[in-house]
Amino acid sequence: MSDCLFCKIVAGSIPSETVYEDEHCRVFRDIQPKAPVHLLMIPKKHIENLDDLKPEDAAVASHMLLTIPRIAKQQGLDDGYRVVTNNGEGGGQEVFHLHFHILGGGALHSL
Ligand code: 5GP
Ligand code: ZN
Repeated sequence: MSDCLFCKIVAGSIPSETVYEDEHCRVFRDIQPKAPVHLLMIPKKHIENLDDLKPEDAAVASHMLLTIPRIAKQQGLDDGYRVVTNNGEGGGQEVFHLHFHILGGGALHSL
């Protein structure tokens, strides 16, 4: 997806403060943090959001979920953290490349 912001971050044509990367995903700091630690985890493959996940994406999706706790520990989020994914315009999604917000490092109001 040549016009996708997060695909450009995966490709390195837009810089990001990356804290983790492997064959399936990349984790970088949100440019407008809403918590002391605010990371975005994205698949390297262009998937729009949860609605766009296909059965063949199961390995990537489970890999990302299983990797989140490891990243949270690495980032010192020992007290806990929040994982959010906005899905579709009505869900507040602005960038249409699947991403998990990982938020923590301070008190978060309950949902
Ligand atoms: P959404 O609203 O789609 O769930 O979240 C998109 C997130 O991407 C927002 O929190 C926004 O601050 C972040 N964002 C938008 N553009 C950039 C960018 O160029 N670099 C980084 N690191 N984050 C971005
Ligand atoms: Zn993309």
